[in-house]
Amino acid sequence: MKKIMVDMDDVICDGGFLSLVNQFLGTHYQKEDIKTYYIQDIIPKEKYPEWSEFFSTKNVYEECSMLPDSYEVLQRLAKKYEIYIATAYIFRDKEAYSGNNLKNKFEYLYHNLPFLSPNRYIFTTNKEILNCDIKIDDKLSNLAGTAEKKLLFTAYHNKTIPQEELKQHGVIRVNNWKEIEKIL
Ligand SMILES: [Mg+2]
Repeated sequence: MKKIMVDMDDVICDGGFLSLVNQFLGTHYQKEDIKTYYIQDIIPKEKYPEWSEFFSTKNVYEECSMLPDSYEVLQRLAKKYEIYIATAYIFRDKEAYSGNNLKNKFEYLYHNLPFLSPNRYIFTTNKEILNCDIKIDDKLSNLAGTAEKKLLFTAYHNKTIPQEELKQHGVIRVNNWKEIEKIL
C-alpha cells in the first residue's frame, strides 16, 4: 500500500485558532482577513505574554470544525492507502506549553477519525524527513522531501502563491477534499 502524509490543521479541521484570537482580542476577524501563516501575528507584540497565558488554558480543538468531506474521503482512502496524520504541535510563542496542545491534538484525532489507528499519528515539525508517496499540506515548505505527489491544500495564507512557483516545486493545488479524492 502506498503511504499518504496528511496534515491536520487547515486540512482536516480549522477555525479554532482564529476563534481563540478573536476571543482574546474581542474582535470578529474572518479567515479572509488573515494574510500570514501564524494567525497570532495579528496580536500586538505587547500583548503576547498575556496571549500565551490565555492560550495555554484553552483547547483550540474545542473551537474547531472538520473541513467538508474530510471525514468521508479519508475513510474511503484509508481502504486503499496507509494514511499517516503528520502534525506539528510546538506552540511557537511559548514552547513550554506545547504538551497541552499535543494532548488536545491526540484527543481530537482519536475522537474524530475513529477509523485511523493512533499508531498512524506523527507529531513533528519536520515533515520533510517523512518518506511518503503522497503528501497533503497547506504549508508549501511541509511538502518538501521526496514524494511522487504533493498536494497543497488551499488555505487563507497560501492563496497568493503563484501557479508557476507550485509547478517549480512539483506541487498541485487542491481546494477541497472532493478534488483530493479525484486525484487519488
Ligand atoms: Mg496545516
